Amino acid sequence: ILTTIQERKYVVKDKGKFKPTELGFIVNELLIKNFPEIVDVSFTAKMEAELDEIEEGKKLPLETLTAFYEVFNQALKQAEIKMLDVKRKGIETEIRCEKCGAKMIIKIGKNGVFLACSRYPSCKNTKDFVRNENGEIVILTKETEEICPECGRPLIKKQGRYGVFLACSGYPECKYTASVTLNIVCPQCGLGKLVKQISKKKKIFYRCSRYPQCQFILWNEPIAKSCPHCGAAFRILKKQQLVCLKCGYKEKYS
Ligand SMILES: [Zn+2]
Ligand SMILES: [Zn+2]
Ligand SMILES: [Zn+2]
Ligand SMILES: [Zn+2]
Repeated sequence: ILTTIQERKYVVKDKGKFKPTELGFIVNELLIKNFPEIVDVSFTAKMEAELDEIEEGKKLPLETLTAFYEVFNQALKQAEIKMLDVKRKGIETEIRCEKCGAKMIIKIGKNGVFLACSRYPSCKNTKDFVRNENGEIVILTKETEEICPECGRPLIKKQGRYGVFLACSGYPECKYTASVTLNIVCPQCGLGKLVKQISKKKKIFYRCSRYPQCQFILWNEPIAKSCPHCGAAFRILKKQQLVCLKCGYKEKYS
């Protein structure tokens, strides 16, 4: 089951925890809609629990596993047939298009999922979105206050393969892109702010915006939660724990 679900990209491993992907969410919604008798509890929650157990080596009894797999596979097959439909029509949401007032729908495109106005093609409004930890849709506002240093047009936020980044609104004429600056002051120089970057080996890291003058670098995600022990402005996320760089204080974080 694990390989099936992972191969089909319904879940990804993020910070050591299984997280449903957007496709996973869509399949989940389809399963709940079409097979309420099978999916009595939240599919993702149940799946996560099962996956964790398998991961931890607490293998379930063979019959349970086979039974679960059969039911799951059947439902999944049905859901996948429906998926073809979804790929064409999209999934309706309660979010309203601010341009024409129609409902927005989740569409699956080449570069992932996005929200599009249901009145397309007469209304071409689209939006990028992410899911918060409760699975709710959070719209990414495209507008920023920042100006392209190369052509002077405003920068907008874009969703890429490795997360959100800034790009010039003059694209494709101007190809300027930048990483997102976090609202965390560099602890080394106290002047720059931390910037999210992607290394050549596709690893995410954070460094000071004053680089190369300031060489501060972090390989763990900084979280803007102050340390209750020493008052440091941020802590880093390490193995599902918030760790204070200043005093070493550790706290569980999920
Ligand atoms: Zn619209
Ligand atoms: Zn530009
Ligand atoms: Zn610095
Ligand atoms: Zn501390």
